[in-house]
Parts: sequence; structure tokens; C-alpha cells
Amino acid sequence: MKVCGYLIRYDELGLKGKNRLFFEKKLISNIKEKLKETPITIDHLWGRILVRCEESTEVRSRLLKIFGISSLSPIVEVESRLSSIQEEALALVPNRSSTFRVTTRRVDKKFPLTSRAVNIEVANFVLPERPLLKIDLDDPELELGIEIREEKTFLFLEKESGLGGLPVGTGGKVLTLLSGGIDSPVAAWMMMKRGCPVEYIHFYSYPYTGEQSKEKVLDLVRTLSCYQNKSFLHIVPFGEIQEALQRHCNERYRTLLYRRMMQRIATEVAYRRRGMALVTGESIGQVASQTVENISAVSTATDMLILRPLIGFNKNETISLSQKIGTYEISIRPFEDCCTLFQPQAPATKARLLDLLQEEEKVAYKELVQGALSHIETLSI
Ligand code: ATP
Ligand code: MG
Repeated sequence: MKVCGYLIRYDELGLKGKNRLFFEKKLISNIKEKLKETPITIDHLWGRILVRCEESTEVRSRLLKIFGISSLSPIVEVESRLSSIQEEALALVPNRSSTFRVTTRRVDKKFPLTSRAVNIEVANFVLPERPLLKIDLDDPELELGIEIREEKTFLFLEKESGLGGLPVGTGGKVLTLLSGGIDSPVAAWMMMKRGCPVEYIHFYSYPYTGEQSKEKVLDLVRTLSCYQNKSFLHIVPFGEIQEALQRHCNERYRTLLYRRMMQRIATEVAYRRRGMALVTGESIGQVASQTVENISAVSTATDMLILRPLIGFNKNETISLSQKIGTYEISIRPFEDCCTLFQPQAPATKARLLDLLQEEEKVAYKELVQGALSHIETLSI
């Protein structure tokens, strides 16, 4: 099949009324950015985007990772004339034993035949030459799509689903607290899917966690970067804070006190980067620190909005999504995360805010936050 491009559909964007053009422009610029090393041209057609290029699995797989694209079809282009459409249809459709239908969409209403008439004319032309095919209008195994536009008509046999969602950049920027675990990369991805550009912040406890755990987080960000244009990762040394909390505070509250410190530091970084919200991979009841009581007591450490896109997910749902995203294999690499170190024997499951505040008074937490902020390393990926 001599493919001359990919026809891109974007259902959800079409619903955005007056903002539609803004969403479409963002989607087009995201496509251009992702394919900037490939010779392509882009046509914005009514309700569709056409990326003209040669057939390429690389182009296709990049397109399938761009949020906002609901489906795509590799297409062949012909003149909008019935005889040309019929001949190209015959060239495209294989003679194999399967059920078949033709589905025409006539965008150019000046075309002399109705969509239904084109279906019939094309099927009548193709079927005598392809005797193994059997018509099934309800649920065919093979479907020839035809889109008739003013000058050109597109034909295609395949329609592959994209990720849907909204183009990254149409929403406000967020900062994801990225551990080396399974959940937080999925949470970041869910935010990108709603159009929010994501930056990342990772806390590591050198010398307790080594270079390998940093490398793991870098690999996670690299994988997630396929879904947006450019990523920033802020790496924060957390060892000193952990040591202080470990030495002076009640062990039962340790994990929660770590989280509150992380949120304070992340909030400051988000302000500096013009981020509008923090994102975590928490879900209710998953581990001792993630009861409603604990999440509530922890989140008073910041005034900033904290988004938790996985809040109602089961672990299995998160795992299967992380496999689809491509982060799972990286997340399960066995390196220590800073919070698995110094884990309390009997963590509090229903911490009271008052108790956390009292524990925090035992360390110079504001100075510790400032200290960590002055040692942040920012990488662009
Ligand atoms: P994950 O799989 O994302 O680590 P989890 O279910 O293991 O999640 P926790 O380890 O308790 O849960 O962490 C809860 C959330 O806190 C994480 O999803 C992440 O957003 C944030 N977090 C935990 N540890 C770190 C870290 N070292 N750096 C940055 N964020 C972290
Ligand atoms: Mg974790």
C-alpha cells in the first residue's frame, strides 16, 4: 500500500466550542514538535489533521503517544472522481476470505453522488474481482473507509485508536512528586492526558540511596517524555531531613512527616516554575500512610492544590496502565526508595494533625526546607 500520510481524528476536541481552534492549534504544534526530525507536512482539514509523509512505524508510534488524537488511519490519496476512487479501492482491498463493507463520508457535499451511492458503486466495482469477500454491513472484519473532500479523497483500511484526552499544553502546569514506584509515573501520565504539562520532583537520600535509584527516576522521566514535548526533573537531596526526623521525632509518624516536608519543598518549586498544583500517586488504603485520615493530616502542610488522579484505583488497575504506558518494567527494578529506608515498624494509620505539628516542632523544619531548596539539581530531558 503506497501510504501518503496519516489521517488524524480528535473527537474530544471537537466538543470545545469557541476554544476549539486553540485546542486544534496546540495539537498541531505538538505533532510538529514530536515529528520535527521527520520530513512531513501538515494540513488542517475541517475536523481532521492530515500528516503527509511516507509510511513509517516510527511516525505512527510517535503519533499514537500524542494526547488529543482519538484515532489515526494510514491513507492513500486520490482525485475526487468516482473512477479514481474505484481503481484505488481495488488496488487496496485484498482478496481474502473475510467479511467486508465500504463506509464513505462525504465532506464535500458538491460531490455528485451521496455517501450511500459511493458505497454501492465502489463495492460493485471491487467485489467481482475479490470473490472471497462477503458483505457484512453490521460488523465487518475488513472495512474500506473513504473520505471525499473537495479536491482529494482519502482511502484507508485501518483505523487505530489513539490515547484520546487533551493536547498537552491546553491545561495548567503541574508538578508531580515522582518516586521510583509504580504509581506516581501513572499519576503524571493521567495529568498529561488532561492537557497539563508535567514537571517532576524527586527526593533522594544520598548516601542511603545510590546513583542507581537516580538513574531509575531518569529512565521513568525519559519514558514519560514520549507523551509531552520537554520535561524538567528537579532532584532534591532529602537525606539530611530524614536523619533529623528520624533522630528527633516519634517513629510512628515518620512517613507522614517525610511527606509533609516533601510537600513544602515541592510547593516552593512549583511556585518558582509557575506550576499550579502538585500531583501524587496516592490512592486510598493502598499503604498505611494513605488512609483518608493520614492524607488529610499530611496535606495541611501546603496551601497548594494537590491532585491525586489515582485516588480510587486498585493496584491492579494502576499496574495495567503502567504496563501500557511503558513505565512498569522500570518501576519494578529493585532499588531502594528514600521512604522505604527508615520505615517505622508500626506506622500510624490515623494520625491527628496536632500530633504531627508537635513532632515537627522538635526539628528546625523551616531551615531544613530552605537547606534542601538550595541544593536542588534541575535536569531538562
Ligand atoms: P509510588 O508507587 O508512586 O511510590 P506508593 O503507593 O508506593 O506510590 P508512597 O511510596 O507512600 O506510595 O508515596 C505516595 C506518593 O508520594 C507517591 O505516589 C509520590 O507521589 C510521592 N513520593 C513518595 N516518595 C517520593 C520520592 N522519593 N520522591 C518524590 N515523590 C515521592
Ligand atoms: Mg512508593
